[in-house]
Amino acid sequence: MTFAPPTLVTLGHPEEVCGRCGGPNLWSWHAPSPLWNAVMRRADGTDEWQIVCPQCFAELAAAKGVIDAMTVWCLRPDSGVIVDLPSTDADGRRWDPERCLWRDAYEVPTIFEGTVG
Ligand SMILES: [Zn+2]
Repeated sequence: MTFAPPTLVTLGHPEEVCGRCGGPNLWSWHAPSPLWNAVMRRADGTDEWQIVCPQCFAELAAAKGVIDAMTVWCLRPDSGVIVDLPSTDADGRRWDPERCLWRDAYEVPTIFEGTVG
C-alpha cells in the first residue's frame, strides 16, 4: 500500500470577491433587503452585480442618490459576537444600539410624546 500525500484544497467562497471592483469581499455581510434593492436593483428587476463589497455598496448608494452626503455607515454583526462589549466608555458616554452611536453623558434622553395614564 502506498501513501499519497494530501493535496492542498483551496476552500473558496463565491462571495469572497467583489463583482464590481474585483477586490476582496467581506462575504458574510448583508444589507437590509429594501436598502439592497434600492441600491442594486435595475428597472428590469435584475441586479447588475450579485456580489459587491461594502465599499462598493456604499459608493453605489451614493452614486444612485439613495443616501445623502452626510450618511455614516454602521457596520455591526447580526450575531456571533463572543466577547462582552462595554455599554459605556471612559468618558461616560453610553452606547445607543438604536442609533449605533455613543450618546454623550449630558445628552438629553429622548422624550416620548403621548399621554400618560
Ligand atoms: Zn468592491
